[in-house]
Amino acid sequence: MFTLPPLPYAENALEPVISANTLSFHYGKHHKAYVDNLNKLTTGTEYESMPLEKIIRDTAGKADKVGIFNNAAQVWNHTFFWNCLRSGAGGKPSGRIAQMIDSDLGGYDNFKKEFANACVTQFGSGWGWLVADGGKLRIMKTPNAENPLSKGQTALLTIDVWEHAYYLDYQNRRPDFVNAVIDKLLNWSFAAENLGRA
Ligand code: MN
Repeated sequence: MFTLPPLPYAENALEPVISANTLSFHYGKHHKAYVDNLNKLTTGTEYESMPLEKIIRDTAGKADKVGIFNNAAQVWNHTFFWNCLRSGAGGKPSGRIAQMIDSDLGGYDNFKKEFANACVTQFGSGWGWLVADGGKLRIMKTPNAENPLSKGQTALLTIDVWEHAYYLDYQNRRPDFVNAVIDKLLNWSFAAENLGRA
């Protein structure tokens, strides 16, 4: 059985950028539903005891496995996203990741502009990502449940830009949500840990 991992902080920890109300629905309803659906779809199949990452890589792009892929990837994406956020974080990183942002992405200001742009211009539901790809940092966006795992990239940071991530707090103002997360919540320590595993 797949289980809903505990949220790494209290539901009100990310206020005022993300309200407790939003986090309560987003974690307690949306993320939980992906876990429940994944269990329904995989119980009694070869996938029931498979690591989440392997399910995602094995089912990506397979038309007859789209339900399993979507729910497995959304379970992984949300667990990853919660760890990308931390109260009192955001702004400029330091260390190796900052040096790579300078060399690969033209500096922090350009990173911020391009990352926000990827998040804002993802048409419909999806995710904005900072990834390590062949030893370099890259910004990308994916629709729906898709993520960098099945593309051989290492995810460093993400922002969920499905409407359920921001609509209660920001309504249609996705750019305001994205910029507030970048400025105040992005967990660069977690990104550095992920880079260390790339
Ligand atoms: Mn979500």
